[in-house]
This record gives sequence, C-alpha cells and structure tokens, in this order.
Amino acid sequence: MLLSQAHLSLIGHHLSAEPKAGFFPVINPADGTVLTHVADRTAEHARAAIALADAALAAWSGQTNKARSIILKRWHELMVDHAEDLALLVTLEQGRAIREARGEVIYGASFLEWFAEEAKRAYGRTIPATAPGKHLQTIKQAVGVCAAITPWNFPISMITRKVAPALAAGCTVVIKPSEETPLSALAVYELALKAGVPAGVLSIINATDAPSIGAVFTEDARVRKLSFTGSTPVGKALYAQCGATVKRMSLELGGNAPFLVFDDADLDAAVEGAIGSKFRNSGQTCVCANRFFVQAGIYDAFASALAARVNTMKLGDGLDEATHLGPLINAKAVQKVRRLVDDAVSQGAIAVMGGTVSVLGDCFYEATVLTGVTTAMAIASTEIFGPVAPLIRFETEDDAIRMANDTPFGLAAYAYTRDIGRAMRIAARLESGMVGINDGLIGTELTPFGGIKESGLGREGGSEGLDEYLEIKYISFAGL
Ligand code: ADP
Repeated sequence: MLLSQAHLSLIGHHLSAEPKAGFFPVINPADGTVLTHVADRTAEHARAAIALADAALAAWSGQTNKARSIILKRWHELMVDHAEDLALLVTLEQGRAIREARGEVIYGASFLEWFAEEAKRAYGRTIPATAPGKHLQTIKQAVGVCAAITPWNFPISMITRKVAPALAAGCTVVIKPSEETPLSALAVYELALKAGVPAGVLSIINATDAPSIGAVFTEDARVRKLSFTGSTPVGKALYAQCGATVKRMSLELGGNAPFLVFDDADLDAAVEGAIGSKFRNSGQTCVCANRFFVQAGIYDAFASALAARVNTMKLGDGLDEATHLGPLINAKAVQKVRRLVDDAVSQGAIAVMGGTVSVLGDCFYEATVLTGVTTAMAIASTEIFGPVAPLIRFETEDDAIRMANDTPFGLAAYAYTRDIGRAMRIAARLESGMVGINDGLIGTELTPFGGIKESGLGREGGSEGLDEYLEIKYISFAGL
C-alpha cells in the first residue's frame, strides 16, 4: 500500500519514493513491499543536531514550565487529531494490528498530556535551617542536552515517553528512532514542530548505522543524558560508552517476565490476562510474559482454556480490522522464534496450539501454546519476542518464586491468585520493577515503568519520569 497524501504531508521532506543514494527503504512486514525511502543520516548530522540542541538549551530551559507545558498540550492535541493517520503508519511499517496501533498512538500521546501537567509540579524543597540566619533549599533544573535511542516495537510511545518529560523539564533532545520504524517517528516529530517546539529543541536522526550515531551520542560531552530502550547487549555497550563523560542514563532493556498462575486463581481472568500480557503486539514487548509457571492443580485446565482462547485470535495483515495478531517485525525474528519452539519440542514440549511458521508468509508465526516446558529449555531463559506461551508446571509457592527469580532480568512479573496473603507475599518477593497481580496489562503514563537487575536503570512515566530529566541543586543561604 502506498502512503497517502495525508501521510506525506506529515513527513514529506525526509522521503523519496524512488531508491536514491543516501536513503534507506522502509519495508511493510505484512507483504514485503517497500513503503518509501527515508533520508539516512550520518554521524555528522548527529553532531550538528547536538550543536543545535546545545544552542537552544538556554532559551528553552529559561522559559516558564507553564509555557513548555502549553506546547506539549498542543502536541498532544495534534497527535489525537491525527490518530488515525499515525495508527496506519504504525501498522504499515511495524505490522501491528490496526486495532492495537490505535492504542499505541493514544498511549504515546498520553505521555505528552501527562508530562505537560507534571511540568508545573517540578517542586524543590525548603529544609529547616541548621542555624539562625540560614536558609536551605533545593531547586530542580533541567539536566541539559539529552539523546534518546528508541526501538521499533512501540514506535511512537517509546519516543514520547522520553521526549515529553525531557522537554517538560527544560531539556533539549536529539532522538534516533529504530531504522525499522522511521515513519511514525517522523510524523510525531513533524507534529511537535507544528505544536510550536522550537527548531533545535528537538531533532530527529534516522540512520541505518546505529553504532556510529550511538558513538557520537555517548562521546559528546555536551550530551548530559542518554535514554535508551532496546536490547540488553546494546544497552550494556552504551552504558560502558557513557562512562567516559559520566552521563546520566536511563536504560529500558530486555525482560524475561514470569506469569504465575496459582491453583486458587480465577481461571477466566488468568486466561484473559495471559492473552493481554503474552500476545499483545504478537508477543513483541519487553513486558510480555515469557515464562508461564502454572500450579499443578490448575495446569491442565489453564493449558486447554488458553489454547482455546488463542484459537479465536486471527493472524493476518494488520490493516485488516479483523486481525488480532500481525506479522513479526521481520523474517529473522520469525526464525528466532522457530528455533526456540523447535528446540523445546525436540526436548519433550508439546505444541497444543500453533508451533509453526504460518503459511501467510515468512514474517508470520502461528500463535502457540507449549505444554511440558522445563526451565532447562532455552525458551525459558531467552526473551522470545514472539507469540509463544511456554507453560512450566510447579508445586509450591516457594518453587514458583525461586524459578521466577532465577534470571538476570527483572522488568515485569505477573501473578494470578485470589488469596490476598499470597498476593502480598509474592508481590514483595518477585524480583522485578513492576508486578501485575491479577493484571496482565500494567503500562500507563501515570505509573513508573522500569526494571531492576539487568533489565535497566531509571523509570519512565509517573512523577518519577520527570525526575529522570531534572538535576537537584542544593542551595545554602547564610548571613540572612
Ligand atoms: P532490537 O533487537 O529491539 O531492534 P536493538 O537494541 O538492536 O534492539 O535496537 C534498539 C535501538 O538501538 C534501535 O534504534 C537501534 O538502531 C539502536 N542500536 C542498535 N545498535 C546500536 C549501537 N551499537 N549503538 C547505538 N544504538 C544502537
């Protein structure tokens, strides 16, 4: 499908319909067609954008928080007004079902509204003085120039979740979106300019040579903070690279979320929670349930109810309104899922639903439920990033917690139980930054999103999200 006039008017000047030197193709994973070509930026562009961000910083951070808030609100309104066009772009370049793409746009826009409101609440403190004639206080000030590197799985909200608090705080930002999803990013950027974000305060670098852009972002001393969402190996490398200039960092890395179902769970609720947590975006989110630990007494009932529910979901082109599950981002992602499932099956797991690449094409994998999985299988320790639910059996609460925590990751965890004592015990004991108790969908703009252990550093969203872009300055006045 070609891009419509409405899309082109949002992102026109960065595009070429024909292949051209210095441009890279954007592929629709549903059918392999080239949507358009996007200008491929270089390290030099990244340095120029940082220079612009540095030059724009004093004026932007010097405005009142309310003035910045008004611009963010206007940006939010523009995103809501263009929600349908943005959703189409997300589906076209990322594959996600259109019904979910609409949610991604509204979720993305919600961070603009939330941080427009929070901008006005960047309070400092007055601290009781230690001596007469003294006054002790703290103020919060913008961190400075920030760089952001974002992934393809939430091509809009991963940008706004970083940029909205940064701009609200008075920072300026250079974003490098994923090369898989440059169009949604460009559209959101163009709307920011329309909303009144001044030139240089926000710049966008679409580039295929991600390491060279990452090197500029991390080496340049003018960049005071890097926020990254993506894979753990890249995040670790960027963390090390930021050491030389001691930058502040936010890292949202991989997960290996456990999903615990106890014998006393509400079975229907657990199945619906599993569908939301596991199959959203065809399993391509970092908070997707990766390992289902199901207690022995409910294991068979849960497996058959989940398989029956999965069977009602339609796999297909995301543009079809009836589609629940779109293609994965590319054929490589499908092959990774295929290898993990084949390996588990070769060791005794049973695919009670799915278990194969779809006949729809090499970017489609069938929604899958695996029983008889053990923690020794690679699928239990690898982030699947696909529509596969591996079910592992457990006997006692202690066993479930021990297995759930036996991972270097700690982003999200889920548990279904009707026992309030157990719910409170396990919420405290699960080693993760976020826990859903009888809740499979936990992300909101109002709450702090983030991980512990190797899943990352810092929090995005909530009031905590603004603090990530503010420095605290302590001021002691004496001789008053
Ligand atoms: P994924 O597997 O989800 O694509 P990546 O970590 O590879 O995860 O990608 C997330 C983001 O990081 C993308 O914008 C990608 O271009 C960028 N990226 C990948 N490698 C590097 C790197 N070495 N330095 C900086 N950014 C990188």
